[in-house]
Amino acid sequence: MDRIRPPRPELEYLVPYDAKDIKAEVMLAANEHPANLPGEIVEKISGWLRELRFNRYPDPMASRLRELIAEANGLEPHNVLIGNGGDELIFELLLAWGGPGRTLLDCPPTFAMYGIDAQVSGTELVRIPRGPEFEVDAEAVLARLAEGDIDVVMISQPNNPTGNLTPETVLIDILNVTDALVLVDEAYFEFSRQTMRPHMERHPNLVILRTFSKAFSLAGLRVGYVLGHEDVIRELTKVRQPYSVDSFAQWVAASVFRDRVVFQQAIRDIMRGRDTLMHGLSAIGGIEVFPSEANFVLFRVEHAAALWRDLLHNYSVLVRDFSRSAGLDDCLRVTVGSDEENDRFLSAVEDIMSHRRASEILSGTEAHVRHGTAGELGY
Ligand SMILES: *Cc1c(COP(=O)(O)O)cnc(C)c1O
Repeated sequence: MDRIRPPRPELEYLVPYDAKDIKAEVMLAANEHPANLPGEIVEKISGWLRELRFNRYPDPMASRLRELIAEANGLEPHNVLIGNGGDELIFELLLAWGGPGRTLLDCPPTFAMYGIDAQVSGTELVRIPRGPEFEVDAEAVLARLAEGDIDVVMISQPNNPTGNLTPETVLIDILNVTDALVLVDEAYFEFSRQTMRPHMERHPNLVILRTFSKAFSLAGLRVGYVLGHEDVIRELTKVRQPYSVDSFAQWVAASVFRDRVVFQQAIRDIMRGRDTLMHGLSAIGGIEVFPSEANFVLFRVEHAAALWRDLLHNYSVLVRDFSRSAGLDDCLRVTVGSDEENDRFLSAVEDIMSHRRASEILSGTEAHVRHGTAGELGY
């Protein structure tokens, strides 16, 4: 044969998730931790490496790590499932609760993987857009859930890429009206310090997702976990690949989790850095900054795509461009970096914006004439 039988027709309109592998000196595009693992943890790991049995399959349930996480959350190991990154667990949730003839509700703009995994798993997607401040449209969501046909709800808390939290009362209202599986994605929990964990006992359909990728410097290792009712975890284990979390990742994640107090100072530094970025961006003028409870900041600026390119090509600063995403016109997202990286980003934006102002004056299209925002631009 000189041809390939076509794949599932659904794939025709799917574009691969573009995890843009662009290199820059200052990498602030993927919400990673700015620092590598602390030296003391790396020391421990390298000491153990000689004992690791590379020839053996890993513990399929990552028992040690599972016990540690269960204990820290006041749960039993059967309430915890470890995954190859949080992303794998989102996919498994849709394999188990989604699929053909079933429906996922999400609230865009939000984490793109919910929609992508819905398509890949053949799950119908119902999108209830967020309001102007990116707040969940609680009334619309509750009304839609009351129709009774939604199988899964996914809410990023705080929301990536907008940074805001949904009020706990709204999440409780959602849990009260539906028996759908409700995933509260707490990927940024260590920064927001908000969790739905206390509501798990009353609501067996509540599932919480967390990850080692953001606050614990482990994005390269791929470890995440869900907390959920024993019955939910049991169903998820039916659809998962038994060895998806390798021995090395289990080992390192357990070590990091045991020593997690070591990360506290860095988490505080990142929260301080977030405030620096928010204030710094607001002070520049011509930039709308959205409040964030995570380790990134979303902002809106005219000609955002041009600013993104300028940052990359002239300053070697990489941020995330959302300017062509629905509901995020002219928005960019910057991850909180180290103090030096934050400074470099801010002075680059300042530079670019002041050049813009200068060229606008020269071309006789003063910004204040066009926007009517004189004070803010210093005229
Ligand atoms: C980063 C992220 C995840 C999971 O990331 P992994 O690296 O796969 O663990 C899940 N949800 C949201 C909203 C995220 O931003």
